[in-house]
Amino acid sequence: MNTNACLYQDLTKVLVTREEIAEAVRALGRQITQDYAGKEPVLICILKGASVFFTDLIREIDLPITTEFMAISSYGGGTKSSGIVKIVKDLDRDISGRDVLIVEDIVDSGRTLAHLSQVLATRKAASINIATLLDKPARRVVPLEVKYHCFNIPDAFVVGYGLDYDEKYRNLPDIGVLAPKIYGGES
Ligand code: 5GP
Repeated sequence: MNTNACLYQDLTKVLVTREEIAEAVRALGRQITQDYAGKEPVLICILKGASVFFTDLIREIDLPITTEFMAISSYGGGTKSSGIVKIVKDLDRDISGRDVLIVEDIVDSGRTLAHLSQVLATRKAASINIATLLDKPARRVVPLEVKYHCFNIPDAFVVGYGLDYDEKYRNLPDIGVLAPKIYGGES
């Protein structure tokens, strides 16, 4: 039985189930553990969308990691990227000399992470890589190297497992396509 049943009414379909997510996050945690063996990476959670993914992912990594949180605004309340990226909350600690893994919920145009990678590159990290839960490769407008992704998805506006529309739906355990009537889009 679904918890949050009232929120499911606003979806046209469930795209990725909680079971599929759990399996992919476990596999990604194993991969990161292997790739960063002998290192102590700092994982940066991009608030708020990546928060649910982040808390699950870090518990699947068997390394002495540290965590940081950063908030970036790029979308406002709509469903299309504005291209305007602003750091709303910066890191608490210096990352110079550290192996950095940016953890994001979804890469769409790529603008947000291209900008963020540039900003972090000026801070002399030893390495910077990106791990995203979802990727929409068909929507990319700026080149971006995404080292890790759990799922490639088609061009649709999705919510759940941390992803919101107007701050809602983050608590859906699955990822679903939001019905266009909710945001006044085309069906
Ligand atoms: P980009 O800069 O790559 O175009 O956009 C990345 C950001 O846009 C993500 O971090 C996320 O906040 C938002 N975004 C892009 N596509 C979606 C989507 O399908 N659903 C939700 N909820 N947010 C999205």
